[in-house]
Amino acid sequence: MNGSSVIHTSKLCHSYGQQAVLRDVTINVSAVSFFVVIGPNGSGKTTLMKILAGVMPLQSGEISIGNRPVGKYTKRELSRTVAYVPQLVASDVPFSVMDLVLMGRTPYHGMLGFESHDDIAIAKEALEITDVSHLARRRLDQLSGGEQQRVMIARAVCQQAPIIMLDEPTASLDLSHQIRIMDLMNQLRSEKGVTVVMISHDINLAAMYAEQLLLLNQGRVSRIGSPAEVLTQELLEDVYQCGIMVDVSPVGPYPRITPLPGHSLT
Ligand code: ADP
Repeated sequence: MNGSSVIHTSKLCHSYGQQAVLRDVTINVSAVSFFVVIGPNGSGKTTLMKILAGVMPLQSGEISIGNRPVGKYTKRELSRTVAYVPQLVASDVPFSVMDLVLMGRTPYHGMLGFESHDDIAIAKEALEITDVSHLARRRLDQLSGGEQQRVMIARAVCQQAPIIMLDEPTASLDLSHQIRIMDLMNQLRSEKGVTVVMISHDINLAAMYAEQLLLLNQGRVSRIGSPAEVLTQELLEDVYQCGIMVDVSPVGPYPRITPLPGHSLT
C-alpha cells in the first residue's frame, strides 16, 4: 500500500443479487487530495462510495482507511473519520435546518447528549460557509433541491471529519453555488487537511479541481490518474459511447470536454 494513501481498496467486488456491479476495484486515495469519481450512469459510483463510507456492507475485497481495515472501526469512530453526503432529495424530514446540521456533532456526544456552545458555533460557521444561514429555522423538506444539498454539505462540514465523501454534490446547484462548493472543498483540503472524495457528472468542473480522477465503467476501474491522464478523447468516447472533443480550458491548464451533438454511438 502507498504510504501516503488514506483510503485503500483491494479487489473490492459487490453484487446486487445476481448482478455484479463492482469488479476487482483496487484504488489508493492519497491523503489530503481531491479525488473525483466519474463514469456513466450505472457504472457503480454510488455503490462504491456507500461501501467506502461504511453505509453499505463490504461483500468481498478489502478496504482500509488510515491504514486500518474498515471492519475494525466502531460506528462512532467511522463517523468521526468519514463524513458522507448522499444524493438527495429528502421528503418528510421533520427537522429544522439547524437541528439537522447539529446532528453532524452527534459522533462527538451521542444522540442524547446536549450540544455545547462550541457545537453551536461550529454549526453556525458551517451554515455560513455553505450559504444557508438564512434557512436555519426552516424545515429541510420544505427547501429546494439545491438548498437541501447545501444543508447536507453543511452537516458534513460540521462533522469535522478528516475525510469527506460527496455523491454528486453540485447536481442541483446553480453556477455560483457549484463553484462555491468546489472552492469550499478545496479550501477544506488545503487549510484543514481534509481528503475530499466526490462523485461528479460534471467532468469539466472535476478537471479543474481534481488531483486524481477515477473513471469507472461497468463496475471496473477503467483508468485512474491525473485529469490529463484520464480525460483522453479515445478513452472517453469508448466509455461514454459518444463523440467527444478534448481541448484545453481557456482558464487554465485543464482538459476541457465537449460532447459533440449528433454523435451518440449508442
Ligand atoms: P452509478 O452511481 O454509477 O449510477 P450505482 O452504484 O447507483 O451506479 O448502480 C450500479 C448498478 O447497480 C446499476 O445497474 C443499478 O441499477 C444497480 N443498483 C444500485 N442500487 C441497487 C439496489 N439497491 N438494488 C439493486 N440494484 C441496485
